[in-house]
Amino acid sequence: MKKIVAPVSVVIIIGAIGLVVYNIKASLGTSYDKASYPYVCKDCKAVFDVQDFRKPGAYKMPKGAPSDSVATCLKCNKGWALPVTRCEQCGTQHVLYLISDCRCPKCFPEAAAAAKKAGVDTIFKKPG
Ligand SMILES: [Zn+2]
Ligand SMILES: [Zn+2]
Repeated sequence: MKKIVAPVSVVIIIGAIGLVVYNIKASLGTSYDKASYPYVCKDCKAVFDVQDFRKPGAYKMPKGAPSDSVATCLKCNKGWALPVTRCEQCGTQHVLYLISDCRCPKCFPEAAAAAKKAGVDTIFKKPG
């Protein structure tokens, strides 16, 4: 009896470890795939979700874009849709790549000054 019981429990333990590793990998993958944050078109101001650009054929990188995080707007099809990020310090949602200084305009007065100088507002306002 003992000869049979030992290998079975080893198999169960290995199986359990494998399942845990698989679950960790799956949850990491899920958090990336299901990440949700806004994108805003700097031309027509349309707001999208990052998931809208993950649909097949939806994402096009605009010519001259500073990053592949910038996408061609799905509405006007020419403006740059820019990702919106949330400041970890103060929670302000601000638009990336509008100016070269992508830091939070509330935490970094230099970033706010640079935006003002460029005549843009990098703070994201939810439409409506
Ligand atoms: Zn647009
Ligand atoms: Zn901040």
